[in-house]
Amino acid sequence: MKKMSDTSELKCLRCQSGLVALGQESLVTGGSSAGAKFFFGQLAEMQERNWVVSAYRCPSCHHVELFLPEGP
Ligand SMILES: [Zn+2]
Repeated sequence: MKKMSDTSELKCLRCQSGLVALGQESLVTGGSSAGAKFFFGQLAEMQERNWVVSAYRCPSCHHVELFLPEGP
């Protein structure tokens, strides 16, 4: 799993502003979480799973990007 130490290099896909790291967040897929279905679609239909993702937010257009670490 790569370390993302150079987060300031990440640019917003929409407006090219620098993304701000929000740190790591826990996401639970499966079950009845509407949020999980929104983000993962078919993946959310699989058995419940806990994903640790790195979240980044664009301060300009509020676009959010999520990165999953490599593999289990
Ligand atoms: Zn943006």
